[in-house]
Amino acid sequence: MTELRVAVVGAGGRMGRMLVRAVAEERGCSLVGAVDRPESGTVGQDAGLLAGTPELGLAVTADPEVAFARAEAILDFTAPAATVAYARLTAERGLIHVVGTTGLGPGELAALREASARARVVQSGNMSLGVNLLAALVRKAAAALGPEWDIEIVEMHHRHKVDAPSGTALLLGEAAAAGREVALHERSVRGRDGHTGARRAGDIGFASLRGGTVIGEHAVVFAGAGERIELGHRAEDRALFARGAVAAALWARDRSPGLYGMADVLGLADV
Ligand code: NAD
Repeated sequence: MTELRVAVVGAGGRMGRMLVRAVAEERGCSLVGAVDRPESGTVGQDAGLLAGTPELGLAVTADPEVAFARAEAILDFTAPAATVAYARLTAERGLIHVVGTTGLGPGELAALREASARARVVQSGNMSLGVNLLAALVRKAAAALGPEWDIEIVEMHHRHKVDAPSGTALLLGEAAAAGREVALHERSVRGRDGHTGARRAGDIGFASLRGGTVIGEHAVVFAGAGERIELGHRAEDRALFARGAVAAALWARDRSPGLYGMADVLGLADV
């Protein structure tokens, strides 16, 4: 099969640089475009040199039309408004759109769903095998343990992260809610402060810690009467998410337009 032609948006960002490197290192694909905002200070620079690989002869551009001209797949770890704008372009062109951007609200998720009528969209708050397997285990544990077990999700990330709870914490919350057959938005409690009253049975709580250089740590705590179970994951290298995104793009090549998750890519949907 010919190499998958990939463009990276947000190519100057922490994840963008990882994505450029992952594409350069993966034999099944080649980088044909790199985009970032003029404010990023990276436009005009060689995408490879920025990412710490040998020079690729491909400059970062501020114009997605230029970067997408030859692309079959877009890797997008940027910001919610940018992701919605790119979804319009990927739908128009029937491209693969791998979305790692977190902090997407209901309107932004609806825009991705709309785009998926024509684009192959793979969206996940976490592209790692470990976290997606953890989500499957959390769903099973929540179903097995019943509502008398309190569920709390604790996450920690580096000081630059702008959204909370993390996309991964929400993904794990959705898994717990699915196991209990409830809607997360009706049961979730985001942080506590002051006189909160006693904990409501059946709630799913979230706590977010921010600091230092932590790449991503998550623990799902099931607290019962006199005992506690903790299921957790620690990301040790951002390259993990980038490799997952590249694997998602390659997987999506043979699919029909639609909205997919990493559980589909990793074959965990029925676990
Ligand atoms: P970052 O701030 O380092 O990088 C974001 C990049 O996007 C910047 O270079 C910025 O200039 C660029 N950008 C923003 N708007 C743009 C636009 N309109 N057009 C082009 N580029 C634009 O942030 P980061 O740490 O790389 O994280 C990016 C996103 O990825 C966040 O939402 C983060 O939570 C998410 N993330 C997801 C996973 C996952 O596995 N799903 C893993 C890590 C991070």
